[in-house]
Amino acid sequence: MKSIFKLMAGAAIIVSLHSAAAMAADVVVGVSWSNFQEERWKTDEAAIKKALEAAGAKYISADAQSSAAKQLTDVESLISQGANALIVLAQDSDAIGPAIEKATAEGIPVVGYDRLIENPDAFYITFDNKEVGRLQAREVFKVKPEGNYVFIKGSSSDPNADFLFAGQQEVLKEAIDAGKIKNVGEAYTDGWKPEIAQKNMEQFLTAADNKVDAVVASNDGTAGGAIAALEAQGLAGSVPVSGQDADKAALNRVALGTQTVSVWKDSRELGKNAAEIALLLASGKTMDDVPGVMTFNGGPKGVAMKSVFLAPLPITKDNLNVVIDAGWISKAEACQGV
Ligand code: BGC
Repeated sequence: MKSIFKLMAGAAIIVSLHSAAAMAADVVVGVSWSNFQEERWKTDEAAIKKALEAAGAKYISADAQSSAAKQLTDVESLISQGANALIVLAQDSDAIGPAIEKATAEGIPVVGYDRLIENPDAFYITFDNKEVGRLQAREVFKVKPEGNYVFIKGSSSDPNADFLFAGQQEVLKEAIDAGKIKNVGEAYTDGWKPEIAQKNMEQFLTAADNKVDAVVASNDGTAGGAIAALEAQGLAGSVPVSGQDADKAALNRVALGTQTVSVWKDSRELGKNAAEIALLLASGKTMDDVPGVMTFNGGPKGVAMKSVFLAPLPITKDNLNVVIDAGWISKAEACQGV
């Protein structure tokens, strides 16, 4: 998907972007990461930095290292370092609340990045997470339209975990209701940690006497954990597994046939758009001035949020060339060992 600014090119937007860029020399954008060790966030960061640099704005950041408590002090510290706009990837969507309230009360615009922060004063930019869940389940279902299913969900403190699961259930509902698909295990994965996903998968395999036919894992990290558990039982490659993020290791597993699908969310676009929105808001424009803005109220509390959603794309063995052609991964990396 193209930059929303490119998509919405028009005189008013060009003027507002120019004025945002002209003022950006004084802007410091503070980015608060939740779990930066995960591969995808590095791509997001590079895109944010690039867009800010292009506008002459400054980038500062902090990583909460999967600690909701640390993220609260991180946000305060970004503000005291002079951040006049914030981009926040929330570790815990509820726990981050007070920090967001404080920032917006001080007139510092906040962009909730990728994960919902249900405060109407914050902007929300993400990929359509429910759709990601649908795409994951759809690809696994194509391979195994019946049998015992395991659901490796995301972190319970991340609303995306439930959006994904809702999308997955929507696709599988009919087959579940008809008794064709049986849910033989479902667990959240604390902090989205692959080693926890692996442990949960091991327990599900033991409980089902290894009779697991399909695994709907919510991202590539957890898919990697689940596949390691399947491998130990000689089942990798014969049980379909989903993921998301188009992590390099996952795309290689797709090529090798141990992972069925990864859902690609071009985080270069997400990062670029988030940075541009942060600059626009820091320049005094309102959330309604953001090109392509819509209202989303599908969160747990039903808060109406000004938001922008980008579209995800499933990547299977059949269309691996899409990510290669987009310069996301080289053919050599994707197809290593094939
Ligand atoms: C993101 C995923 C990511 C996961 C773990 C989710 O909120 O949408 O892309 O894999 O967090 O960091």
